[in-house]
Amino acid sequence: MPKAILVDTTRCTACRGCQVGCKEWKNFPAVPTKQQGSHQNPPDLTHYNFKLVRFSEHLDGDTVKWYFFPDCCRHCVDAPCKNVASVKDSIIQDKDTGAIIYTDLTAKEDFKTIKDSCPYDIPRQDPATKKIVKCDMCIDRVKANLLPMCVKSCAMGAMSFGERADILKQAAERLEAVKKEFPKAALLNKDDVSVIFLVADEP
Ligand code: SF4
Ligand code: SF4
Repeated sequence: MPKAILVDTTRCTACRGCQVGCKEWKNFPAVPTKQQGSHQNPPDLTHYNFKLVRFSEHLDGDTVKWYFFPDCCRHCVDAPCKNVASVKDSIIQDKDTGAIIYTDLTAKEDFKTIKDSCPYDIPRQDPATKKIVKCDMCIDRVKANLLPMCVKSCAMGAMSFGERADILKQAAERLEAVKKEFPKAALLNKDDVSVIFLVADEP
C-alpha cells in the first residue's frame, strides 16, 4: 500500500530536529557553513543534507514574520526524475511504499538532466562517487516498521507518516482546522506527491 508523509508547516518551530535526525540516521558528516545573514543553516540541500528547514524571514508592515519549511524530496507519484533517467534501474519506485529510490547506478546518469527535471530542485550529486542522492523516505526504517527518522524526530507533531489514504484524510481534516486561523491555507500538490505540505498561505 502506498505511504505518505504529511508536513504541517503551521506546527513547525524550526527546531531542526528533522534535519539533524536525518543526518544522524544516514551517518552524514557535518558540512562547514558560514553565517549568511539568516538562521537557515546550511544555505541549501547538499549530498550530506537530505532534509533542510528553509527559513523565510520577511517584513509584514512593521512586523518581522518567520516562516519555516522542512524541505525534502516529495516522492512524486509519477516522478519526473525517474521518467527522464536513461540508465535502467538507476531510479526506481518501491512498489510497496511508492518511495522514489536512487540507486548506485545514478552515477552513470547525466546529473543536470536529473536535477533539471525535478520541480522542487531536490537531487544533489556526491562529488566523490558521482552518485545522485536524495531522501529515500527512510525505506530501511519503513520496511522494518519504523517511522522515517524526520517524522520520528519532530517534537512538535508537525509530521505524520502512514498509509496514503489515511494521510490524505488526516490532511483534509487538519486543513479545515488550520483554515480557521489561516483562511488561505492549502495542501500543496496533494494528488501528485507522497510528501504533502500543509501551508498557511499558498505561494
Ligand atoms: Fe524526483 Fe524531485 Fe519528485 Fe523527488 S521531488 S521524486 S527528486 S522529481
Ligand atoms: Fe531524511 Fe528519511 Fe526524512 Fe527522507 S524520510 S528526509 S531520508 S529522515
